[in-house]
Amino acid sequence: MTARCTFCSKPRTEVGRMVAGPGVYICNECVALADAIIQEYKDKPVKLRLPPWESLNDDEMLDHIPRVAAAIDQVEADLRAWVQELRRRGVTWSRIGEALGITRQSAWERFSGED
Ligand SMILES: [Zn+2]
Repeated sequence: MTARCTFCSKPRTEVGRMVAGPGVYICNECVALADAIIQEYKDKPVKLRLPPWESLNDDEMLDHIPRVAAAIDQVEADLRAWVQELRRRGVTWSRIGEALGITRQSAWERFSGED
């Protein structure tokens, strides 16, 4: 799976740099945009209005939901990769489950790939 910027959906191959977080990524272009927004609003009072549904029509909202779904898929793939590495190191399902706040059985069912 090619890493994509969680904010603009561009693949790693189409951006200059990509910074990784826990299952999420941000490209250099989105970092620059975010910084510009922070600079523009730094002396103004913070008014959070999330999510911005009132300003979007149905088509704009429909355009947006595949991006949310893609972010979920990317985070899930990243979590699976971390769990696979822990299993490769010999870490038990019990410890993995404990770290995730779920039972050993639930961890195994979710990540083992076995039925
Ligand atoms: Zn981006």
